Amino acid sequence: MNLKSFHRRSLDEREAFWAEQAALIDWHTPFERVLDDSRLPFTRWFVGGQTNLCHNAIDRHLATQADKPALIFVSSETGEERVFSFAELHREVQRMAAIMGSLGVGRGDRVLIYLPMIPEAVFAMYACARIGAIHSVVFGGFASHSLATRIDDAQPRLIVSADAGSRGGKVVPYKPLLDEALGLGSHQPAAVLMVDRGLAAFSRVAGRDLDYAEQRQRHFDAQVPVTWLESNEISYTLYTSGTTGKPKGVQRDVGGYAVALAASMKHIFCGRPGETYFSSSDIGWVVGHSYIVYGPLLAGMATILYEGTPLRPDPGILWELVARYQVSVMFSAPTAIRVLKKQDPAWLTRHDTRSLRALFLAGEPLDEPTARWIAEGLGRPIIDNYWQTETGWPILTVAHGIEPTPTRFGSPGMPMYGFDVRLLHEQTGEEVGNNEKGVVAIVPPLPPGCLQTVWRDDERFVKTYFSSIPGRQVYSTFDWGIRDDDGYYFILGRTDDVINVAGHRLGTREIEESLSSHAAVAECAVVGVADTLKGQVAMAFAVLKDPALVAQPADRLRLEGELMATVDRQLGAVARPSRVHFVTVLPKTRSGKVLRRSIQALCEGRDPGDLTTIEDPSALEQVRAAVSPA
Ligand code: AMP
Repeated sequence: MNLKSFHRRSLDEREAFWAEQAALIDWHTPFERVLDDSRLPFTRWFVGGQTNLCHNAIDRHLATQADKPALIFVSSETGEERVFSFAELHREVQRMAAIMGSLGVGRGDRVLIYLPMIPEAVFAMYACARIGAIHSVVFGGFASHSLATRIDDAQPRLIVSADAGSRGGKVVPYKPLLDEALGLGSHQPAAVLMVDRGLAAFSRVAGRDLDYAEQRQRHFDAQVPVTWLESNEISYTLYTSGTTGKPKGVQRDVGGYAVALAASMKHIFCGRPGETYFSSSDIGWVVGHSYIVYGPLLAGMATILYEGTPLRPDPGILWELVARYQVSVMFSAPTAIRVLKKQDPAWLTRHDTRSLRALFLAGEPLDEPTARWIAEGLGRPIIDNYWQTETGWPILTVAHGIEPTPTRFGSPGMPMYGFDVRLLHEQTGEEVGNNEKGVVAIVPPLPPGCLQTVWRDDERFVKTYFSSIPGRQVYSTFDWGIRDDDGYYFILGRTDDVINVAGHRLGTREIEESLSSHAAVAECAVVGVADTLKGQVAMAFAVLKDPALVAQPADRLRLEGELMATVDRQLGAVARPSRVHFVTVLPKTRSGKVLRRSIQALCEGRDPGDLTTIEDPSALEQVRAAVSPA
């Protein structure tokens, strides 16, 4: 079968197609209906079927590969390296599940996980999946304010955290940020389970904070049966940034997600049982959920959980791991490759990477020079793939499990089965032709694995994703795209105010709100500016209540530092603007809308575009002056 007819069939014979894919996982009770699309854009997959993610990823493999590696933990930060077989992982997950049960966590309860890349994070996610609790993992790079917003929205009964992580050889304490977040927000969890790695001393709140090692000992021999869940129950929520200051809890189901991941492991990633998958992402992102934690194990593969950077102890570490564990499928981000590109290319060939069938890259645009450099240097196939937190698995890529398809530099490929992708005119909603720019949209029903809704906010789900294109109820990705005559798509950047810094998706609004919380700031604008290493960086323009505050260059530097520290403290260093420029007025339309695209154009040395609606043209001159080299 070729890719195009496979894709066609997935849309024309949707139910038959997905019923076949559903056979890739175990069902405790068969589903009654493949698809319920009677209430679009809400979609229910495999209605009435009972299954469990933990069973499918772990228990199911015990009969054939109990002693084979399941979770390979490597920390180049602490020097630890531990391999858990499927049987050992099964035991650890049950211990964690028993701890959760003893703390009153049950089906439908939320567990917020704020952990570095350590095995306990994987145990906790699977423990939730096992008992039907809903996990919400918060990226460890987020600080107290980001954490507080997520805690208040998720209202977890339990938070699992640790004393510290480590990055680039530096200990990064987690617990003080968690305590601060709990002080900032209104929701209080019943318990906080603390993994003490012995990296940083921390204070405990009596009656609330529990020690994981002690609890684990107490539940050492626990046997916790799988809770069978209806396919449409919630497996997890994962917060992602949008155009407002408040992140959205992307909510995912159980059965649809398991089927989508199992199908992608077969058709797209071509992973086989007994092999090893290595994704260098983080559990705090969707790639970590789908392709560190769940996908590889669903396919019976071992997964590598890597705490460390691509550069330490040396720039060959990623390939050293490929060689040591005979990795057959690898997943990383273009930024990681651009970081390596600054090093001696000899690092790419120092280790034997012949086990690698393909290196998948995603999360941000893969520029052609980077793609060429890694393809030539490594001598292995490079596969770009485009998707979002919302979709859970690739929308555009190639699927070598269906048909070997040549890739094109700069293109993530073609629509994947299940995704009815269209390029639409932003204003008219009409489909655009080949080689014309349009908004990348998906006609519902969205395939299995995609978000069910926004956590506790159906209205926001419909309004955000399905109402932005006039006259059509279609899902907007908020990305611009273009399709060539052979059906290859190219992604041209976001249509909204979301920026992508080193593969991390950030809302400019969140950064603006953080900067505005500083007493000196009257208003500000943040835009994403092209950067050769990180793809984009955040650039801020602030109007001060009292411009005299930055009369002297030294004052300007001090305040810029203070504002950056504010963002570090509230959101985390990932969101820190690369510069904060001071201006006395922001470029706005007469109706008061900040002209972000014009600011961005000036920062990138481009023409600021149509300025007929600008209120005060001198505002743009200030931006131009601020960003031009002195
Ligand atoms: P996230 O939800 O954090 O995974 O971010 C999703 C966004 O990252 C998409 O909407 C795109 O803007 C961008 N993105 C992800 N993968 C790619 C890719 N392969 N090429 C271009 N942009 C990408």
